[in-house]
Amino acid sequence: VASLAALLDEICAMTAAETDRGQVSHAIAALAEQSDRRFAIAVATLDGETLSAGDAGMPFSIQSVSKILTLAMALGRIGDQLWSRVGREPSGSPFNSIVQLEHERGIPRNPFINAGALVTTDVVLAGGEPREAIGALLRFARMLAASDDIFIDANVARSEAQSSDRNRALAHYLKAFGNLDNEVERVLGVYHHQCALAMNCRQLARAGLFLCLGGRIPGSAAPIISPSRVRRINALMMTCGLYDGSGDFAFRVGLPAKSGIGGAIVAIVPGRAAIAVWSPGLNPHGNSVLGIRALEHLAQRMNWNVFATDTLDRT
Ligand code: GLN
Repeated sequence: VASLAALLDEICAMTAAETDRGQVSHAIAALAEQSDRRFAIAVATLDGETLSAGDAGMPFSIQSVSKILTLAMALGRIGDQLWSRVGREPSGSPFNSIVQLEHERGIPRNPFINAGALVTTDVVLAGGEPREAIGALLRFARMLAASDDIFIDANVARSEAQSSDRNRALAHYLKAFGNLDNEVERVLGVYHHQCALAMNCRQLARAGLFLCLGGRIPGSAAPIISPSRVRRINALMMTCGLYDGSGDFAFRVGLPAKSGIGGAIVAIVPGRAAIAVWSPGLNPHGNSVLGIRALEHLAQRMNWNVFATDTLDRT
């Protein structure tokens, strides 16, 4: 563990020296204010310890990382029926593609692109009040991270609502195909708030642990979601978690992961640890440039890779 702490410091120093830092998202005004100098990394291990380096206590907008939460909740609500409304294939298109949805007649490719996440959010809302669904999401995030100071950033939520034309178009299109049960504006209301969930890197790493532990959270006896469901979520993260950058990420890092345009990435080392990185500069697919580089370095040095076939254990 001492060497892991040193490695995180080393990665932090390495990224500080990087000049190619990607582009901070201008999709919504609140994200455009972020500095591309920010960098944080945290590793939560199975014994409940969390190691970190950089701006690891600074909250950021988790954005599309929240799509893991709504997927887990939607599966909890309707189980495998979800798969009649959303697919399980990588999209090969940008996360907010409209043309693909028309091609596939209103069945989004997977739950991690925006159209697919609007469907999982619709399932979570389930005819209830948006306020209740948002409250349930917040409670779920707090429980997973074992932290009460996770919050919804009102400024980001407002900013999302002001720049939501594309997501609104996707939601209406889903509705036209009969793949949205609730009113468009109510689904968007929840979606904007889930994107605005604010967490720091330490909390986000800890929140990922249930995906390393067969659905259990440290200290709990029974899984909160079943081990077979965890395997499937991890499989979807591996194939679809970084959108059109998922193949390259699997090649370079080899871990299931999910990104968001706030600059966060959560990566899962099954049976070992959950990793969160945050750096706001993005590549053209909307994935954090330094986040990917940091994960590549960490995974290589720790020999953390689900495709590894040697028995070498450096932890
Ligand atoms: N709020 C963003 C959107 O809806 C989330 C996208 C992302 O993080 N990739 O487009």
